[in-house]
Amino acid sequence: MKKIALAIHGGCGVMPEASMTPEDWQAARQDLAAALKAGYAVLQTGGSALDAVEAAVVVMEDSPHFNAGHGAALNENGVHELDASIMDGATLEAGAVSASLAIRNPVKAARLLMQDGRAVLLTGAAADRFAEASGLATEPQSYFTTAKRVEALAAMKVHAAAGTDGTENEKHGTVGAVALDAAGHLAAATSTGGYTNKPDGRVGDSPIIGAGTYARDGACAVSGTGKGEFFIRHVVGHEIASRVAYLGQDLATAADGVVNGDLAAHDIGAGLVAVGADGAITAPYNTPGMFRGWVTGDGKAFVATHETIYEVTV
Ligand code: ASP
Repeated sequence: MKKIALAIHGGCGVMPEASMTPEDWQAARQDLAAALKAGYAVLQTGGSALDAVEAAVVVMEDSPHFNAGHGAALNENGVHELDASIMDGATLEAGAVSASLAIRNPVKAARLLMQDGRAVLLTGAAADRFAEASGLATEPQSYFTTAKRVEALAAMKVHAAAGTDGTENEKHGTVGAVALDAAGHLAAATSTGGYTNKPDGRVGDSPIIGAGTYARDGACAVSGTGKGEFFIRHVVGHEIASRVAYLGQDLATAADGVVNGDLAAHDIGAGLVAVGADGAITAPYNTPGMFRGWVTGDGKAFVATHETIYEVTV
């Protein structure tokens, strides 16, 4: 079988290790492993990179440990507005939804919109109507809410009033996946609740093709996490693909240059996962940690939150 590869992230807003019990960290790592398993099962049976990234992201949207779907961040009005996108590196087809109030799995709506082909991005109530008309599950806002997100919003309101900065964890999250399939095609998908206390109606980088999500066969697939405004301004996904394709940089150099060079210069938290056309995987971040995992061509799988890397079975 030709080389396959998969990498996922659950956001670069990881808390200090001491702030959660070992059991909680274990539970988050288990959900990362489950996402890897879901995506890798697709690739291993000859499925497409597109199906693999969607399957992995759905698992993380359903998990309360990550800022997407169930467990998404709350905006300044205490409302969940969900963004997601998916891109096929083979055809450059893409689909995205933004500011959805109700789609249980926003990445599924992005995928269906991509297949529909009439638009790349639908927003707000129209995105919700599209999902419903397509037969996807929708949920009341309460489905997306967890105690942790309510606390994070309260903490960010206090920071805002005092003019202080929140922790990376209070600010960040997002989930994403990138994959290379046996046919040599790349794909990327990203899903998020944005950041805690974000402005009403604010759309981040995750549903913006080229910024938070990008895939192009022959170059790479990228899914980002971090302050989305800067990912949009630096067109991060496309920038990394361009450095690989036009400067001939290896993927790790290109991705590191953007995360620890261009983005770090703004003093913001940032991270991403990327996979190259040759199956190379990289996962740079500039925060204390990033929920992440990957499976290499030989079937070995790993998950991590901070520096320690754990091997898991997929
Ligand atoms: N990139 C996401 C956004 O700006 C949030 C994050 O990953 O922290 O919406």
